[in-house]
Amino acid sequence: MTPSTGDPLAYMSASRLKSFLTCRLKFYYEKVLGLKSPSSPNLQIGKAVHAGLEAFHRAQWQGEPMSSADALQAYQEAYTALETEEAVEYGDKSREDCLTTGGRVVNAYLESELSKDPRSILGIEVMLRSDDKRLPVPLLGVLDLVREGNVPVDFKTIGATPNLQEEAWANELQLSIYHLLLHDATDETPAPGELVYLVKLKSPKVIQHKLPAVNDTQLERLRTLMDIYVDGVKRGDFYPSPGMHCRWCDFRGQCRAWTSKPKAA
Ligand code: SF4
Repeated sequence: MTPSTGDPLAYMSASRLKSFLTCRLKFYYEKVLGLKSPSSPNLQIGKAVHAGLEAFHRAQWQGEPMSSADALQAYQEAYTALETEEAVEYGDKSREDCLTTGGRVVNAYLESELSKDPRSILGIEVMLRSDDKRLPVPLLGVLDLVREGNVPVDFKTIGATPNLQEEAWANELQLSIYHLLLHDATDETPAPGELVYLVKLKSPKVIQHKLPAVNDTQLERLRTLMDIYVDGVKRGDFYPSPGMHCRWCDFRGQCRAWTSKPKAA
């Protein structure tokens, strides 16, 4: 595993907060020590699909729409570039199958009505930061797409048809963070967020999910969870939380050897 550095109190993001709330010890390995594990085929496909769609939307935004063939080429080039940046552990999966799976998903999006969304694009890969003094640390987020009316749109590449209620629940924190960030950046109340699921089936599906507006209770929950994060990190509350999520954890070796709390960050 390759270490990289990061101060967990320099800022908070959806990824940091969700990691901390899922398992504080995994958070410690991942976000405090900065240990990295080889990219999984699913992560690799997701990142390359994301890059292909980003190129497609950027061309639309610039008023020079891209052909489907060019968007697919952008996807394939991103796939190869990402492999160079970070090794992928394919295990019993074939690289060619993974490349084809992602290409099918990109194609399904390009053929869907969503690729012709008439709403204008306000920004792509929009990095926002809030230094609101009411928050315990600065808040950071990168929004995949912002459409006319300050609508945050996030793309999710997933393996099975989603249960929309469960997904809305699982993504509540992320959308609440986008709401706070957009509100801070524009001084306007953002529109409800949208999730677009790109489902990696043999016949891929593209599902748009318009979520309800973020409400005050959700924002209050987010602020409270941010306080809990900061207090927990300052105290060094990094202990194992065994559960279903351990199946996808790359740090089981280190976790098995854990006997007591590491030092505070
Ligand atoms: S194996 Fe489970 S309990 Fe241990 S660090 Fe990973 S997620 Fe946490």
